Amino acid sequence: MTRLVVVGSINMDLVTLAQRFPGPGETLLGERFLSVHGGKGGNQAVAAARLGAEVHMVGAVGDDDFAQPLCDALAAEGIDIAQVAHIEHCGSGTASITVAGGENQIIVVPGANARLTPAHVAAAQSLIASADAVLVQMEIPLETVEATLRTAHRQRVPVILNPAPAQRLPEAWLKLARYITPNQHELAILLGADPTEDFRNLMRRAPCPVVLTHGAEGAWFREEGEPQHQAGFAVEAVDSTGAGDTFNAALAVFLHEGLPIAVRKACAAAALSVTRLGARGGMPHPAEVEALLA
Ligand code: ATP
Repeated sequence: MTRLVVVGSINMDLVTLAQRFPGPGETLLGERFLSVHGGKGGNQAVAAARLGAEVHMVGAVGDDDFAQPLCDALAAEGIDIAQVAHIEHCGSGTASITVAGGENQIIVVPGANARLTPAHVAAAQSLIASADAVLVQMEIPLETVEATLRTAHRQRVPVILNPAPAQRLPEAWLKLARYITPNQHELAILLGADPTEDFRNLMRRAPCPVVLTHGAEGAWFREEGEPQHQAGFAVEAVDSTGAGDTFNAALAVFLHEGLPIAVRKACAAAALSVTRLGARGGMPHPAEVEALLA
């Protein structure tokens, strides 16, 4: 069984469906409201657990009414939440999402995610040392991302950096990552490059191996030499939320089978995730991935 440590955000997504967006100062009646568990860290942890990995979550929730349900949902997937910190006098991370006419508007309040510190990573050091891989994203403080990269690198544990939401990072940090997993847009921002530059060129110039997600077209990957393409799997797309999170989780879970196989399985798992509604709702089990690959 693959042992993974995920260091990242845990959010409650508060979703309102409406006919249109309100203007400034306007009050509207909406059609439906739902709260959904999210955050890239939590989502990637859930996707990895569904795929059969032993997952340890390093994250933070607040002391509000969302904290316990957020933790319970992770635990219900079999994820170890012993390293999820409960921060006092602090709200859990939230994303207030309004969906209208096929568009969305989102306000993220990081809350406890902004209080996940390098000390929390240090406390998880022995877990990281015994992991097969570590997954980290950028919805937590950058110093905590750096601490994760350095800790995993020092322990010779492969660390996958999903650079989302993207910002430019020092080259020295990127060199610590076994793989970075941006999409096209994120790769340009991460490297401080011209966004119109061909992404294959950017992949060649990156200071570390890159696995680039490319929507329905699948993914590109480069360890050294020329970038290789893995075609996407043809599916009936219903909701692409969480496709990137499923991709990253599957990549980490199957990495021990070698990069080309892991990318192929990640594309299959992510394709399955877009056939169902919701980020976590679509995350597949291993048998479904094997069936799509057969
Ligand atoms: P996010 O989920 O945050 O938008 P992202 O931009 O990294 O992240 P995508 O590149 O859209 O995500 O998708 C991730 C992976 O999911 C792709 O590399 C691909 O393998 C798969 N995928 C996405 N959309 C489709 C689709 N319509 N059909 C088949 N596979 C898809």
